[in-house]
Amino acid sequence: MVIKGEDYIQRLAGYKREIYVRGENIENFVEHPNVRPAINAIAFTYDLALKKEEYSPFSELVGDKVNRLNYINKTPEDLIARLDYQRELSMRTGTCHYRCPGADAICSIYPATKEMDERLGTDYHQRFLSFLKEIQLKDYACTGALTDTKGDRSKRPKDARDMYVHVVEKRDDGIVVSGAKIHQSGAFAADINFVLPTQTFKEGEEEFAIAFAVTPEDEGIKYVLQSTGYQAMFREGGKFETGNFKYGDRLTCTVIFDNVFIPWQRVFVFEDLKANRHVLTNFAISHRCAGAACKAGFIDSMIGAASLMLKANGLEKVAALRQKLGEMVGVSEGAYGIAIGAATKGFDDYGVRQPNMLIANAGKVIGVEGFGKVLMNLAEIAGGIPVTAPSEFDLKNPEIGTLVDKYLQASPNFTTEQRLKIIKFIEFWATSSHLLGGIHGGGSPAAAIIFLQMLADIASKEDAVKEAIDLDK
Ligand SMILES: Cc1cc2nc3c(=O)[nH]c(=O)nc-3n(C[C@H](O)[C@H](O)[C@H](O)COP(=O)(O)OP(=O)(O)OC[C@H]3O[C@@H](n4cnc5c(N)ncnc54)[C@H](O)[C@@H]3O)c2cc1C
Repeated sequence: MVIKGEDYIQRLAGYKREIYVRGENIENFVEHPNVRPAINAIAFTYDLALKKEEYSPFSELVGDKVNRLNYINKTPEDLIARLDYQRELSMRTGTCHYRCPGADAICSIYPATKEMDERLGTDYHQRFLSFLKEIQLKDYACTGALTDTKGDRSKRPKDARDMYVHVVEKRDDGIVVSGAKIHQSGAFAADINFVLPTQTFKEGEEEFAIAFAVTPEDEGIKYVLQSTGYQAMFREGGKFETGNFKYGDRLTCTVIFDNVFIPWQRVFVFEDLKANRHVLTNFAISHRCAGAACKAGFIDSMIGAASLMLKANGLEKVAALRQKLGEMVGVSEGAYGIAIGAATKGFDDYGVRQPNMLIANAGKVIGVEGFGKVLMNLAEIAGGIPVTAPSEFDLKNPEIGTLVDKYLQASPNFTTEQRLKIIKFIEFWATSSHLLGGIHGGGSPAAAIIFLQMLADIASKEDAVKEAIDLDK
């Protein structure tokens, strides 16, 4: 089933959740100024899926149309449709749509549970399929929680047990888990949080090798929202002062699991090191591939903003600045092209189409470099005003407003308010959590580079050079 954004919001409003914003356990979280933009962004995923057929494919599992982000990809075309969906979402919302790690979790747990059942004769895959059926039927929004708080990074998990989500108790009807996941994109605004391992583990560390799902009924889960300066602006109100006022900053939280009971039906990997690695590897490549398409969408949004800024400043004919726009388009299409290449040259893993590992990881590295360059171009085009401008409150102030209006006017084709809206949107791109999100979301670049070093066939490249220069070595 595919539902409307409004249906998702109404369902969410019925959940009782412990959500903290700036030290306060908030009531009516759906209307909170820091939470609502993330909800709007997720709601947008529903509304866009209703508009385009390829974003709502037919699922044999439930015999109905389902959201592309809750679907098991089987072909390169499936993956490409997902990438297009994400690029469009990123461009139109200018922020994270939050359901991407959920999609990665679904397409990672599916093959890992299948492999595990074949190896061990267990029933993890059936459990997962029953749960996935419910997700698809109700059109749940899912997120993916991997990153543990980790504590002192020089220690192994068994020497820093509390810093990694782990099993506290094994019962007949399920397990009890404790720990915390940090940097969780939109987890508080989703129906389902998949919880996956943060890394591979060694023998003796089995208690951390777990994957499960939590639902709003589970007790002992606390969401503590990020508190960056940008969030304060949202609490101050205004119509457009925050720049991306509908969909907000890229909003994350720390999710604390305080002795949370998870029934076996929602435990998909339990103390199995091989399945742990399988889930993690697939998640990483899936997320890095999708991340490249998302970056293309974000860059598209920045290109739109940059172009509008040129017009609002009366600079749209300046060749040197237009060239900057062209460079931005090159980076966007390049990131998208890498994602499409990874999808096209991917592989089948127990019935799921996965992106090409090397290309997906290259998407992360090139995407991050490109993102930095694009932000520099945007800043150059925009001038200094995104970080120096007065506020919309000054513009509306009866004493100073007319003067602010007069002195901030540029091209006659734009009112000062219109220009200020573009300026605030660019401020959002330049100063919100997007840059760090782009760098570290989906794993830091270093993690992708380790994959690239491991996977690349450097010997064959050496051989090619030896042959070309007749090097007898
Ligand atoms: C905006 C945003 C959204 C995110 N969304 C999600 C999400 O939805 N779900 C999720 O699970 N995660 C999410 N992440 C987390 C992301 O995957 C992590 O930020 C990333 O894996 C790096 O972890 P860290 O930030 O804890 O860095 P740290 O562990 O603090 O590392 C800092 C730096 O040191 C390096 N480093 C760390 N330990 C070592 C070591 N032992 N040896 C060598 N180098 C090391 C890292 O590579 C990194 O460059 C998000 C992050 C951001 C910024």
